[in-house]
Amino acid sequence: MFIAQVSFAQKGKPDRMKVFIDELMSKMTLAEKLGQLNLPVAGDITTGQASSSDIGQKIRNGQVGGLFNIKSVEKIREVQRVAVEESRLKIPLLFGMDVIHGYETVFPIPLGLSCSWDMDAIRRSARIAAIEASAAGINWTFSPMVDLCRDPRWGRISEGNGEDPFLGSAIAQAMVRGYQGTLTENNQILSCVKHFALYGAAEGGRDYNTTDMSRIRMYNEYFPPYQAAVIAGVGSVMASFNEVDGIPATGNKWLLTDVLRKQWGFRGFVVTDYTGINEMIDHGMGDLQTVSALALNAGIDMDMVGEGLLTTLPKSLKEGKVDMAKIDAACRLILEAKYKLGLFKDPYKFCNEQRSKTEIFTPEHRAEARKIAAESFVLLKNYAELLPLRKSGTLALVGPLADAQSNMTGTWSVAAVNDRSITLRQGLERALAGKATLHYAKGSNLTEDAALEERGTMFGKSLGRDNRSDEELLNEALEAARSSDIIIAALGESAEFSGESSSRTNLDIPDVQKKLLMELVKTGKPVVLVLFNGRPLTLTWEDAHVPAILDVWFGGSEAGDAIADVLFGDVNPCGKLTTTFPQNVGQIPLYYNHKNTGRPLQDGFWFQKFRSNYLDVPNDPLYPFGYGLSYGKFRYSDIKVSSTNLKGNQKLIASVDITNASDYNGKEVVQLYIRDLVGSVTRPVKELKGFKKVEIGARQTVTVSFDITPEDLKFYNYDLKYDWESGDFDIMIGPNSRDVSTIRIYWKK
Ligand code: BGC
Repeated sequence: MFIAQVSFAQKGKPDRMKVFIDELMSKMTLAEKLGQLNLPVAGDITTGQASSSDIGQKIRNGQVGGLFNIKSVEKIREVQRVAVEESRLKIPLLFGMDVIHGYETVFPIPLGLSCSWDMDAIRRSARIAAIEASAAGINWTFSPMVDLCRDPRWGRISEGNGEDPFLGSAIAQAMVRGYQGTLTENNQILSCVKHFALYGAAEGGRDYNTTDMSRIRMYNEYFPPYQAAVIAGVGSVMASFNEVDGIPATGNKWLLTDVLRKQWGFRGFVVTDYTGINEMIDHGMGDLQTVSALALNAGIDMDMVGEGLLTTLPKSLKEGKVDMAKIDAACRLILEAKYKLGLFKDPYKFCNEQRSKTEIFTPEHRAEARKIAAESFVLLKNYAELLPLRKSGTLALVGPLADAQSNMTGTWSVAAVNDRSITLRQGLERALAGKATLHYAKGSNLTEDAALEERGTMFGKSLGRDNRSDEELLNEALEAARSSDIIIAALGESAEFSGESSSRTNLDIPDVQKKLLMELVKTGKPVVLVLFNGRPLTLTWEDAHVPAILDVWFGGSEAGDAIADVLFGDVNPCGKLTTTFPQNVGQIPLYYNHKNTGRPLQDGFWFQKFRSNYLDVPNDPLYPFGYGLSYGKFRYSDIKVSSTNLKGNQKLIASVDITNASDYNGKEVVQLYIRDLVGSVTRPVKELKGFKKVEIGARQTVTVSFDITPEDLKFYNYDLKYDWESGDFDIMIGPNSRDVSTIRIYWKK
């Protein structure tokens, strides 16, 4: 009965939509259809001016399908009014925005958020972002970004979920579900998974650079998170800037049609990235008319900013380079998205001024952001249990990031109101009020090089460069340090040192800051390094010399309080890395799920002649994937399995007992890895196949078990068929990808 109802509803709904859109499209001219494919930037629109601006004129002419990055419900209502009152067919507009990790309540940057390994919290963060954005008129977000990345030189590693396809897929789904929900309410918005595909594999980590990889690697490693978003019902997909297999993604029919639509069954629309069509001219694919036709024929439905589709398709249609069916199909997909959002019923569904006053940056949302931020931090080192600190005595807080309000929210936080973010200094002052003394000194600028600092602090995110000499700044900090019991050094990257067009070749803490840190360590006082960063940094010296290191990424608008929560033990840190920290830049790309090679190192060696290694540094990372400490002490038992010999569709249960041998209650992310020892193609040395975040009370023991089925053994083989093969498998469970307990099993098909 239930099934019958569902299938009736599923059948009934698209039909009504089809009838409606058929009728609407029967009235549309070619120009109006092309208008739906056009997504200009908001440009010069200011309140009250929508009708008189250039864009206003285009909207009135039916030449615009949507706009993006307008921040104000009043402006959006006014622009929507022009569309539905002054254009011939009164078709409402989509309003997009880069709501990447929160709207005004800002959550940690996605790389940080991923380190929480908490799918419910991640979904909630997207849900809150959707509530706030929709209260401000936005009905479409350009998120989640799920580009797998193994090269921390690439600045946009900060926007993704790290290096693992399994975890990346789970996060992709949590985000899509958080934004879209059932896509029926006025606080649920359309999501756009990006950047399809392989953008995170840019050569040399240089943004927008070429990518080139085998299809087997695409399918097994880089594609899964995009496909997971499609399975979760994502409404739109953004094509990436880079080429895929020799053809830019924006013009790649194999990618956008064969893989995305035919193999994965995607039913929403595909939008280009910013001027993605026009950039195919520089890629060397032809003139604007040629690349626009290429894009449409490949499977692009909407053109962000470049207007190539709008301006050249009439000519291409006449010349037989595109056909009308393709234009119709693209137009229909845009109209369907508007229909599903409910915009034809109520174009002002997302324009509720009252909501915009009461549902944005609320105390409840901020409290959740603070909680989630604290769970995204990764405790990298805690020698002799220096942390947590006591709220007493005298503390020194030094570093250019200690009181950098505009930097707290990190990159891609376009809706953030910077002067409302809580800095670390504010967070510490609040936590210590009436209990301890805090001495603050900036200590250094971001970098010695003022021009580099300027490039790394764009978009109103200046650190307020201090004109005093490096020496003066240092001396002031040393004075504060010497008169304190503990030093907290807030160092690392500025918000815009990562993100788009912010690639780096040197991943050290920048020069003057590192010098400051060295001098602080020399004072002999205990130093806690609070590290701000949008990517893995090279911390070999720091790991050897600084007793405690807490990685706080860019934790969002509430980060200052959240860091204080963790430093003083009100929250026990539980974040685990989702990206490998290399020892030096020369090791990149370095990732846990690599292949074994024909000449692996033997156990116990870091160098052997004629083996795969370096002369000057071990292959090991500084901190492996999955790593992160707690104030708790989690002791893992050896792994146990329900059987070591399995057949067909049996189920294997693997488990460990974990004891918290400390007086702190804590949370632990328990990780399951599998290695397929023999395959028809080479297989990684381990692959994440499960994880559970569990609470373990002080002095308690819990048993954590995983169900494993042949589904978990599947991979794409040489024919790109998704299947599993009989043989030996290593089943591993541990607190990170390195320190695992292993058992070998045999599984026959
Ligand atoms: C970025 C996208 C973003 C778009 C719109 C592009 O430069 O690559 O991630 O969604 O701009 O702002």
